Amino acid sequence: MLAEIITIGDELLIGQVVDTNSAFISKQLNKIGVSVYQITSIQDDKVHILQALGEAEQRADIIICTGGLGPTKDDITKKTIAEYFNDTLIRDSSVLKNIESIWKQHVRTELLQVNKDQALIPSKSKPLMNTLGTAPGMWLEKGEKTFISLPGVPYEMEALVCKQVIPKLKERYNCPYILHKTLIVYGLGESALAARIESWEDALPKHIKLAYLPNLGKMRLRLSTKGFDEAQLQLDVQGQIDKVIPLIKEEYAGLEDEDGSVEIVIAKHLTKRNRTLAIAESCTGGSVAERFTSNSGASTFFKGGVVTYSTQSKINVLKVSEADIASHSVVSAQVAEAMAINSKALFQSDYAVATTGNAGPTKGDSDAEVGTVYIAIATNAEVYSKEFNFGNSRLKVINKAVNKALEMLLK
Ligand code: ATP
Ligand code: MG
Repeated sequence: MLAEIITIGDELLIGQVVDTNSAFISKQLNKIGVSVYQITSIQDDKVHILQALGEAEQRADIIICTGGLGPTKDDITKKTIAEYFNDTLIRDSSVLKNIESIWKQHVRTELLQVNKDQALIPSKSKPLMNTLGTAPGMWLEKGEKTFISLPGVPYEMEALVCKQVIPKLKERYNCPYILHKTLIVYGLGESALAARIESWEDALPKHIKLAYLPNLGKMRLRLSTKGFDEAQLQLDVQGQIDKVIPLIKEEYAGLEDEDGSVEIVIAKHLTKRNRTLAIAESCTGGSVAERFTSNSGASTFFKGGVVTYSTQSKINVLKVSEADIASHSVVSAQVAEAMAINSKALFQSDYAVATTGNAGPTKGDSDAEVGTVYIAIATNAEVYSKEFNFGNSRLKVINKAVNKALEMLLK
């Protein structure tokens, strides 16, 4: 089964908004065995939309558009889709009811005509009810092909994809369930890991496939399977995971979240164990904290953090001793560890992570080489730190330091 995604919006083509919708949709389609053949971004322009729809229809079974459904753009996508299907727009009463109820809950002024008009949809389409916004999604069928139009606002689009589009596609095309589970392993090379788990790998059932995915000191071991009995597949894969973890031993770091982010794994660990975290950052400028707070539910484990960027703020806010800074430099194991211990005390958390380093391009407050970063972890039992050199590209140093801090927390 092949799909194409067309993202519509002038803002995408001037670099004002990055197209994240197609990545999200591709990931969800992949889970049901639908391959994305092409992703196209086009302007809010009738001719371009008609052309893109025509081309996509030649190649794909499923065509998903996002964007251009807001009230202010004169509903260009909707009108154009109606034209493409030789159709007219009709007012859908269930959509209108939904718009009225959203308006009542969130806006509370009189419903504007432009918003009432959002209940107009092509007569041949079925609405996909958007409970988070006033622009409905639309589902159209042409023979075996399916055309889907979704609002551009990412969280509205995501909810529609997960709750309506994917289940409907699964039913229409009898798509199998695809399951991937990925184990994170730190500190073991591919061959060493393969040797450790050889007996288990040889005995893997045929319907479970294994892939080694090495990446910068981190190994991901992915188990994949597909079929129609979701519950059984989950059990089968979990059974294999339970068998392999003891073989990997202490290098096993955790199970990667479906969305692939280490911070979600850490968040789940902390929440499950009722433990809390504090963060003290210097060279990473708040990016470690941001990785946690960009996911919902962070307040259950994340107590708080500080960005003590200047030397003085490390002394004033985090009470790092001036003597330590003078004798060891502000970029040092001693300072990183003091930042971790003191932020842990300040926020009264169970764990703390701290970063201090020189991201470049020039030497700053310290004599440390550009790229030098110290990362420290404080727990209720101990404090430890590691020294790294992440090279001389500022953004790379920062990103690598953030990833390393997360990795150290995970372990
Ligand atoms: P208006 O721009 O008047 O709000 P619209 O018809 O352009 O209405 P949409 O196209 O649904 O509405 O987009 C709404 C918002 O969603 C855009 O401002 C943009 O920030 C975001 N958006 C649109 N397309 C994408 C995309 N492909 N990836 C990420 N964000 C997107
Ligand atoms: Mg738009």
